[in-house]
Amino acid sequence: MWLNGIFMETMTHSATVLKSPPSTRPHRIVVVGGGAGGLELVTRLGDQLGKQGQAQIILVDSAATHLWKPLLHEVAAGSMDPNTHQLEYIAQARWHHFEFQQGEMLDLDRVNRKLVVGAVLDDDRHPILPERHIPYDTLVLAIGSVTNFFGVPGAAEHAMAIDTVSQAEHVRKRILAACMRTQTRLAESEDASASKVNLVIIGGGATGVELAAELRNTAQVLSAYGLHQLDPRRDIQIALVEAGPRILPPLPERIATETTRLLQALDIQVLTGDKVVELRSNAVLTASGNVLASDLTVWAGGIKVPAVLGRVGLPTNSLGQVIVSPTLQSITDPDIFALGDCASCPWPATGKSVPPRAQAAHQQASLLVKSMHRRLAGKNLPVFTYRDHGSLISLGNFDTVGNLMGRLVGRSVKIQGFFARLLYLSLYRQHQMALHGLLRMLLDTVAQWLRQRTMPRVKLH
Ligand SMILES: Cc1cc2nc3c(=O)[nH]c(=O)nc-3n(C[C@H](O)[C@H](O)[C@H](O)COP(=O)(O)OP(=O)(O)OC[C@H]3O[C@@H](n4cnc5c(N)ncnc54)[C@H](O)[C@@H]3O)c2cc1C
Repeated sequence: MWLNGIFMETMTHSATVLKSPPSTRPHRIVVVGGGAGGLELVTRLGDQLGKQGQAQIILVDSAATHLWKPLLHEVAAGSMDPNTHQLEYIAQARWHHFEFQQGEMLDLDRVNRKLVVGAVLDDDRHPILPERHIPYDTLVLAIGSVTNFFGVPGAAEHAMAIDTVSQAEHVRKRILAACMRTQTRLAESEDASASKVNLVIIGGGATGVELAAELRNTAQVLSAYGLHQLDPRRDIQIALVEAGPRILPPLPERIATETTRLLQALDIQVLTGDKVVELRSNAVLTASGNVLASDLTVWAGGIKVPAVLGRVGLPTNSLGQVIVSPTLQSITDPDIFALGDCASCPWPATGKSVPPRAQAAHQQASLLVKSMHRRLAGKNLPVFTYRDHGSLISLGNFDTVGNLMGRLVGRSVKIQGFFARLLYLSLYRQHQMALHGLLRMLLDTVAQWLRQRTMPRVKLH
């Protein structure tokens, strides 16, 4: 069977080996993970090296489609329909001269330089693709991160994560169901205080804060779309719990203070300096003795790297991130690079590691495009320098707040309101531009704008 230009042996073998072309074959660059960083990387490498046959570019991802991860809290709140934003890897591969192999990276044979990729099954658990071995000359690990429950009792069982589109959709459906149940109870009861929806978000970082505000917006829209019994502020209670002394720890204190004020004005309870110690099916317990009633708990309080990277014999840190040198190569295997959330890369200006952010993944992908050209030419590799352009926090339709790192003024500058909103929206457009070019990004922006005019502001089913 031919799949994306690679010959695959019959599926009767438990692990099929993709046949390598003859020895004159081009250098094979395999990128695992088509997220914020990995997809930009293969798109540009495909256009620059794959198209000319100078290298064979292969993307491996466990999913069939890509959605920029910073949009997931909007999917969870129902304010974004993922179907209108997802990109099919197989189509992107065809347009940009790389090959796509769907499947989860299960293991790595570093001696023989082969990646083990798991079988892909359909909804009825019938095989679509077999387990495969994919050879590489250069491997780039870009598999991102997953939620870290830090071993808190009950967290893995009772909290929901928003690492993938399906998880975010699950959160949305649970919120909608909880609101509808409460609406029914309120309609049947004389006592308006009898029933409430309690939503608890754990983690006061950017994701938790943005989700809290987005949920308040959803609550208001839902009550306008038929859930008339629900008073969005009174009947849908949202709490944000942060173990540290304040929300948004990486941002300047004045932005955290302003954001707290804005959240409280939206009737969102902000609890800081209170560590979650246990989760139950209907409650969140904190170290100070607080017991927060919860119909739905979302965990947005930290990341770790998928377990597979801990099994492949590369040095990793306590979060499972691959420790890389400033050239983004593993410190023990120069044929393996890592970028984005799954990499621990030095940030000499601060003495810390580069933070797990989309802007870091984007910058690292840009560097690796240059690195791959130089590697093929046998030249020295460039060194990664992270440029922190600041952070923007979207509070849904209510406000946007954040800081810009001004290169001219050499310090952080606070921004808020319309200008901040425009900049926030432009981050996703920059990602789209890296994937599709300027013209298609502009067409897509117009198409999205028109589509929004013809759809409800919240996904209702
Ligand atoms: C709700 C939310 C909001 C956020 N908001 C912001 C923001 O506003 N600004 C910002 O800078 N950052 C934000 N982030 C963080 C940002 O999304 C990440 O830092 C960024 O996506 C990391 O990019 P990446 O390429 O390393 O990984 P990802 O974008 O996570 O991509 C990883 C890819 O690897 C694939 N994969 C995973 N495991 C395997 C495997 N074993 N085999 C094959 N494929 C695999 C996944 O399917 C995925 O496609 C947010 C994160 C979340 C969850």
